[in-house]
Amino acid sequence: MNNEQKLQRNRLETTLENIPSAILMVDKQGRVVIVNDTYNSTFNQGQQVLEGHYDEVITYPAIKRMIKDAIYTEKTINETIDIMVNVHKKYFDAVVVPVLSRRRRKLEGVVVVLHDITKLKSLEQMRKDFVANVSHELKTPITSIKGFSETLLDGAKNDPDTLEMFLDIILKESNRIQGLVSELLELSKIEQSSHIVLDEVNLSLKTENSLEVVQQLAGRKNIKIETLIEEDVLVMAEASKLKQVIINLLSNAINYSPEGAVIRVNVKNEGDGILEVIDEGIGIAKEEQTRIFERFYRIDKARSRESGGTGLGLAIVKHIVEVFGGTIVVESEVGKGSTFRVCLKKA
Ligand code: ADP
Repeated sequence: MNNEQKLQRNRLETTLENIPSAILMVDKQGRVVIVNDTYNSTFNQGQQVLEGHYDEVITYPAIKRMIKDAIYTEKTINETIDIMVNVHKKYFDAVVVPVLSRRRRKLEGVVVVLHDITKLKSLEQMRKDFVANVSHELKTPITSIKGFSETLLDGAKNDPDTLEMFLDIILKESNRIQGLVSELLELSKIEQSSHIVLDEVNLSLKTENSLEVVQQLAGRKNIKIETLIEEDVLVMAEASKLKQVIINLLSNAINYSPEGAVIRVNVKNEGDGILEVIDEGIGIAKEEQTRIFERFYRIDKARSRESGGTGLGLAIVKHIVEVFGGTIVVESEVGKGSTFRVCLKKA
């Protein structure tokens, strides 16, 4: 091999090693003659793939079938395949291309390229779930409004008591739709506002202001809110969105606490600005604790609906906190209560 050839070979090897797709080349006898690092790190569980026959060294039936088909038909095979890698289901855009000799167009082997599209698939699934969830959430109140209006038009309007009761329900359901739509708009606004301008905001004052807003809600359930608020804890945030975070957490604490309970709110300076909302409510099981931040996730649908919840509150809270560059965590025990702790960068 002359120097030029060596250089070429080196370049080819470096390229193959650094490509993020898994690549294999199988010769016409079925021997694996090239395998790159991505293939080894993704699929190879320690066996020697290079120089082995593909039927023996490749453990995934879908890939083997595609190689076999491409060798047999001498045509490119392109499929999306799913493969269990360890315990995870992964999706790949897989292409097997026959390599034909230049002159006589005879099959020399095949090249296999596997591109991981798992992230893309899960985004697509999230989008589908989201549309299904929104439609479902809207369908219930709309069906109810339609049903009650029809019954009224069919004659029930002539009885004043029924008229009032049904109109009440219609108003309540319309409010639900309005609430849902405004939360959805809010969520999409935050998602689009990655350019949001952060400013110095007084977390202590914002918390005091927010407490006034929820005082009435707490009063209705005889809930006492105790506070321990250090003065002038300044954080990087956007004032109105920060207020929304605090109000959402406080409303949840009230909604998921029994009559006469106590809620504690702490604001302190611990390097970062810290806000804690601590309740003695129903609590959240360990396996639900990460899920409650997902859109539309509610542990008890009936209970959340009863209190006017949409299942979007915590998704909005998490989104906002992340846009601020902060974090939110929950600690909770079923039957004992929950602590939501927001950590924000100091101004
Ligand atoms: P919702 O509008 O249903 O309150 P959220 O997104 O605010 O929606 O919360 C999602 C779910 O998390 C709630 O339905 C509830 O099951 C649970 N949850 C939220 N906050 C609390 C809390 N303080 N105590 C117990 N459960 C809570």
